[in-house]
Amino acid sequence: KRAKVSGRAEFYQVQDFAIARAQFGMETALRRAIEHRDLRLAYQPICDLATGRIVSFEALARWTDKDGHEHSPTEFIAVAEESGLIVPLGRWAIEEAAQTLARWDATNGGPCGVRLAVNLSAIQLQRDAIAPVLQAALDSTGLSGDRFTLELTESAIVSDPDRIAGTMHALKALGTNLAMDDFGTGYSNLAYLQKLPIDILKIDRSFVTGMLADRDKVSIVRAILSLAQALGMRTTAEGVETHELSQTLAALGCTYGQGYFYARPLEPDAAYAMINSITAM
Ligand code: C2E
Ligand code: CA
Ligand code: CA
Ligand code: CA
Repeated sequence: KRAKVSGRAEFYQVQDFAIARAQFGMETALRRAIEHRDLRLAYQPICDLATGRIVSFEALARWTDKDGHEHSPTEFIAVAEESGLIVPLGRWAIEEAAQTLARWDATNGGPCGVRLAVNLSAIQLQRDAIAPVLQAALDSTGLSGDRFTLELTESAIVSDPDRIAGTMHALKALGTNLAMDDFGTGYSNLAYLQKLPIDILKIDRSFVTGMLADRDKVSIVRAILSLAQALGMRTTAEGVETHELSQTLAALGCTYGQGYFYARPLEPDAAYAMINSITAM
């Protein structure tokens, strides 16, 4: 029996139902993928713009179905956030990143010289105690906390400033670096910048890619760089896709660059093989 779609409201109800059903399907599949450890992390280098050296890798979640279909991280992270699965997914990401880094150190016969950056979602920060999760990963691998950067977004701060401040100080106490992800795209006031222990501002890709052809974007990037400098923070430009962008950002005083110009997110072995290379500057 088919529902007759007449009015606007009904149309939206049918639409919502279809979306809800699709999401529920994805949620079930994602839950299974987390349980069966079918997720992977891909590692994208972050380069020191002054020396061309790789200083860290950002760990990015990847999920490929049995039939070979790659899910978009933006989509499945959103589903994970809505369903609460972001808590086990986020824990897994920290544990998996730590195990990979420990393996790289073992292969290298000592600390391999790079940090790993792990993403923390605002919802995950509200619902889970991250510092103990990281502490457990450090205990089980023998790694020190200064080998990790944790990336969080402004939405985390807006949602619950006091709780987030506590979590950030606990993470700093473990020796980690803290990065403000997608900086410039949130709508919080800037007062939090001086109150919270933030080490790095990550300039969102939307300002970086294509900035050479857009004076306004250059102005925004310059403003973020001088703000960071005034506050004693380092900066990472996301979305560096060309050599020219890399050079311009270095000349503007940006600390680090990340983007397809250096490398796409890589499988662990390919990432490890890149560690001691000097990227084009
Ligand atoms: P993000 O944290 O801003 O990560 C950077 C995204 O930009 C990644 O997309 C990366 O592949 C992409 N990217 C890097 N360089 C370039 C470039 O030069 N050009 C372009 N066009 N894109 C570039 P990805 O891997 O699809 O991830 C999307 C988002 O999903 C991430 O954005 C992050 O918000 C979220 N995400 C991914 N993995 C995790 C995770 O383990 N936990 C959480 N909470 N979020 C994650
Ligand atoms: Ca990130
Ligand atoms: Ca980002
Ligand atoms: Ca982004």
